Amino acid sequence: MPEILEIIRNAADLRRGVFPALQSIPRLVHLLTTEDGPDLRPDPSGQQHADAMATLAAEMGLSGVAWARQVHGDQVKSVTTGGFQGDADALICGTPGVGVAVRGADCPLILIAGRDAQNKPLWAAVHASWRCTVAGLTTKTLAIMHRDHAARLETMTAAICPSAGPCCYEVGREVQVEAQGRLGSAAAKFFIERDRRLLFDMWAANRTQLIEAGLNAPDIWVAGCCTICGDALFPGYRKDGSAAGRYAAVLGVRS
Ligand SMILES: [Zn+2]
Repeated sequence: MPEILEIIRNAADLRRGVFPALQSIPRLVHLLTTEDGPDLRPDPSGQQHADAMATLAAEMGLSGVAWARQVHGDQVKSVTTGGFQGDADALICGTPGVGVAVRGADCPLILIAGRDAQNKPLWAAVHASWRCTVAGLTTKTLAIMHRDHAARLETMTAAICPSAGPCCYEVGREVQVEAQGRLGSAAAKFFIERDRRLLFDMWAANRTQLIEAGLNAPDIWVAGCCTICGDALFPGYRKDGSAAGRYAAVLGVRS
């Protein structure tokens, strides 16, 4: 049985993560960078970051990649060109040749792709940090895809990338209180008490948001790789501290 997330090597021998479920969509290209680079720590509005994104666009056969300064909020932007987009934690695109990228260490990144009412491809990338998750960013992104882009949500495939998992992601009680305040009492099931620690299952919380928005459960793929206790391929903030790298999840459709 194939892995949910496979690790391959690109032409420059750098390791990349790919979801076979997303590779089955015609002309869709995607990748997850790893510790092999490029370095995505510099200021997202700066030239070094732009150069790293241009390298990824070229690797994927895209004319450009769009990215934003991630601010742990609920702002969603629809983009038609590559380049820096200002502040946002989710990007939506339907312009062939253009990719969207999000970056993370312990935060779940979510790639979504499917079709609109005219059967044209539509895709999005979400930075689902705990604050974004509690703010319902995944739900909001899918609602905007539906409202502004006529997304057929039942055609969408979603991939939840490596992040801090429910095995390790310890949070304070205030996170649970805020989650239940904003997402409703059903959010209680995303919190696990173990050894007097409170653990937040961000994978389950986002999976629920995807299903409640209209995706079919078999079309949601959770990599299941924890950036705290798993191997060192993907950077983790809690594991590596302030020197932690960032990995990117990028997807687009070739023109
Ligand atoms: Zn873990």
